[in-house]
Amino acid sequence: MNRYFFPVGMRYTTLEERKQFYAGEFELKGVSEWFSSGIDKTRFAVIIGRHTKIFSKKYKYEASTTILLNELSDLPDLRCQIIEFLPEAVYYDRNIYDENGIRVGQEVAFDLDPENITCPIHGSLEDKMKRQQGLSFCEIESAIVKKEAMGLYDFLEKRFKNLRAVYTGRGFHIHVFDPEAYGLNTQTRVKLAKQVKDSGFHIDEWITSGEYRLIRLPYSLNGLVSRIVLPLKRDELENFDAIHDKRCVPRFIARRFSSNCKHERFI
Ligand SMILES: [Zn+2]
Repeated sequence: MNRYFFPVGMRYTTLEERKQFYAGEFELKGVSEWFSSGIDKTRFAVIIGRHTKIFSKKYKYEASTTILLNELSDLPDLRCQIIEFLPEAVYYDRNIYDENGIRVGQEVAFDLDPENITCPIHGSLEDKMKRQQGLSFCEIESAIVKKEAMGLYDFLEKRFKNLRAVYTGRGFHIHVFDPEAYGLNTQTRVKLAKQVKDSGFHIDEWITSGEYRLIRLPYSLNGLVSRIVLPLKRDELENFDAIHDKRCVPRFIARRFSSNCKHERFI
């Protein structure tokens, strides 16, 4: 099994911890606020154990695939369906569908991940891939990716009005909620992605171009690093600390932290 390396305090979430999180800590209120126009037509998906290889035995054949959840009756139903699979990651479909299920648009989003940052210690993405460490990242890459997120937000503000940043557990997403952005055609999206990339931001172009339509669900758990996916305001980005910020550290990790601190004081 391939092992990845993360900043201190970040690690895979166990199945039991995923269960604890989704049963007791998952904030449906936040999810409901995120989808301000309702979740009637929103589709959700999970990946049980593609990267972590942690999954319930009954789902061993589906562990690496993307599983589309059934249509939700209401938000608590989302919690129930997630608990059934206990996934490492939860996503929603950015496509907008009409009442007949025909795709009529897509939310524009930008994805900044730490592995795309060239690190003075760990090298470029290519170097990391060669060592099979494509998902590993360090504090330096984390700090650079956060800076890029702030820069990208400011860059996009020249063109769009309603932006939202999300800490994903590894990097950041910037979502565009301007009504006219939903209707942009593929050509314009590809051009926009290229323009952002040419301006020096290390985005994954296929998210912006629309090729990959799923995006991490805010307030869900990133089971690769045990962090809560957290929407952040522009002015919160600067001082955001993913290692310690209580809003993104799940209880099963926070408890461990506080007991460690006590221990250190006694040495
Ligand atoms: Zn590094």
